Amino acid sequence: MNNTSVIRKFDFAAAHRLIETVPEGHPCNNLHGHNYECELEIITKLNREMIIDFSKLKTVINTVLFRFDHKVILNSSDSLICILKNLNQKMFLLVGDPTVENMTFCMGHLLMHELVFSMDFSKVISFILRMSETMNSIGTYTWNLGDSQCRVQERTVVLDEDIICYI
Ligand SMILES: [Zn+2]
Repeated sequence: MNNTSVIRKFDFAAAHRLIETVPEGHPCNNLHGHNYECELEIITKLNREMIIDFSKLKTVINTVLFRFDHKVILNSSDSLICILKNLNQKMFLLVGDPTVENMTFCMGHLLMHELVFSMDFSKVISFILRMSETMNSIGTYTWNLGDSQCRVQERTVVLDEDIICYI
């Protein structure tokens, strides 16, 4: 079977630090920033038809991206949260450390939530989100339609667990 896919690239800047997955004194335990580069790929069963208008895709991505861009992304149990909140810093909190794997997973879930309202999922095989933290470090989230973890129910993506919160 022939497949066709589209890829939309986007980027954002954010600060983060890891508190559970690295020991104290590790460079990633210190608050620091990255310029993240992302690619969202939508693989379909379509051949020549348009999968989704790129401008529409851009709009969908932007509805998710603002939560990450120029934010401090932290583990929801990080002791920095109280301090930064008092300083009116904008944060995005994750359950678990904001590793590139966790960030890709969370952004992927959020994108699915938005995309389900913007395109026909019946011809989609899978969605792949790649996020590079540095030139050589890339996280990938793949959602194959039919996965038991996530499923589409009447235009709502049902998640397997509550993974995110915002401040
Ligand atoms: Zn980092």
